[in-house]
Amino acid sequence: MPQMFDYDLIVIGVGPAGEKAAAQAAYFGKRVLAIEREAEPGGAGTHTGTMPSKTLRETAMYLSGYHSREMYGVAVELERTATLPRLMSRKTAIMASESKRIRENLGRHGVIFMRGVAGFADKHTVEVRSDSGTRKVTGEVILIATGSRPARPAEIDFGDACIHDSDEILTIERIPASITILGAGVIGCEYACMLAALGVKVTLVDGRDALLSFIDEELVERLAASMQRMGVAIRLGLRWKSVKRRGDSVVVSFDDGAEIASEQLLFSAGREGCTQDLNLSAVGLVPEKRGYMVVDWRYRTSVANIYAAGDVIGFPALAATSMEQGRVAVCHAFGFEYKRSVGDLLPYGIYTIPEMSAVGETEASCRDMKIPYAVGRALYAQNARGKIAGDTEGLLKLIVDRRTRKLMGVHVIGERATELVHIGQAVIHLDGSVDAFIDMVFNFPSLAEAYKYAAYDCLGHLSKPQ
Ligand SMILES: Cc1cc2nc3c(=O)[nH]c(=O)nc-3n(C[C@H](O)[C@H](O)[C@H](O)COP(=O)(O)OP(=O)(O)OC[C@H]3O[C@@H](n4cnc5c(N)ncnc54)[C@H](O)[C@@H]3O)c2cc1C
Repeated sequence: MPQMFDYDLIVIGVGPAGEKAAAQAAYFGKRVLAIEREAEPGGAGTHTGTMPSKTLRETAMYLSGYHSREMYGVAVELERTATLPRLMSRKTAIMASESKRIRENLGRHGVIFMRGVAGFADKHTVEVRSDSGTRKVTGEVILIATGSRPARPAEIDFGDACIHDSDEILTIERIPASITILGAGVIGCEYACMLAALGVKVTLVDGRDALLSFIDEELVERLAASMQRMGVAIRLGLRWKSVKRRGDSVVVSFDDGAEIASEQLLFSAGREGCTQDLNLSAVGLVPEKRGYMVVDWRYRTSVANIYAAGDVIGFPALAATSMEQGRVAVCHAFGFEYKRSVGDLLPYGIYTIPEMSAVGETEASCRDMKIPYAVGRALYAQNARGKIAGDTEGLLKLIVDRRTRKLMGVHVIGERATELVHIGQAVIHLDGSVDAFIDMVFNFPSLAEAYKYAAYDCLGHLSKPQ
């Protein structure tokens, strides 16, 4: 019987969501086409977001001797012009190797990769525009995985070489002496730490009154203290009015009349869905105000054969969740009896310096839900590995249900926080209790051992009335 469509699945956009969705469908025998506007696959995950920013962070910490600070009192004075090429060359090498991995993964699964800008002609037909012309391809199912881009307020002149969004900051030509970062969300905080580690005088500004309000307050307090020690000036509750060049400086003016001048500016307040080239009106779809697609629990849009996953549907907009959403979307689209939902226990990894990670409930959420809870804490300063590694600022914190002793949340700040959190996540996932850590034998010396001491601390609190 002739095939009705050229492909079973057309994926538009090859970032984390598109790659994993394409591979998942192909794994189950579907004929898949993946269309990407850029020459190399990987999206923000590989080229402008996750991987490059984390590579710069690691390199910045290495070059600045950050890891050695406690041990040898090292304060490396960086030579700005020599540092930038070293920073950038490592980032470029990592990006190239990740793009290669994605191409190989698609190839191994038999996914066809096509370069071009995709837009809908009708609900089964996609037009792909490229230098070699326009061609049409048809698919039974179409997945929109076009990601998001930094928001750029019209009042700010991003044509100025000293004013950057979070994509452009990756291509700076010199390390500035000073920078103002507008927007203290995850991206703003991460860049503030990284640049401060490189010796840049950073002013981090946000209109909100608190940093990272979705993270446990105690962790955020420690982060803020650590950032201030690195020289970051944190200015909260300030609303910017204008950004203007004045001589060699970029000057931000605020509602209350205050001004901050610096050599460069990073605008990192908000992102919007990349739906502008999709010609959604051809299929009767209308994105939300900031360009985000609306989907149901299966990641299906209001058009039955069109799905959307990843940053293009908005929160939580993480590479980690985007990949899983892509896989789940195609499982629903083709009825694979495999992944039916994205787990609801989502970890957060925030690659500030020090890094932070969290999963499950916080003290605040327990209070809101009126769940009686106990807290167990372990300080890295008391942990052998923490001392050896020179991280005496870290904290691992457990949140436990007083009634059942079940582990409900884990919050970590410090070296390897984003790895450590997964031990706790596994225990929560398996419905385990705080006693699991009492029973387990941990490597010594290891940061993981902090779980045991946080559990002992928690037992002390559990034995006392609330
Ligand atoms: C600075 C920064 C740091 C980050 N750090 C982390 C982190 O530490 N951990 C984490 O989990 N997440 C992090 N993220 C978020 C992460 O990068 C995104 O959540 C993830 O990349 C989203 O994946 P995606 O596949 O939905 O979209 P994207 O990665 O944006 O990929 C979308 C792809 O679609 C393509 N495309 C768009 N429109 C079209 C079209 N019309 N036709 C063809 N192709 C098109 C784009 O070129 C792109 O390649 C970070 C983001 C930023 C900006």
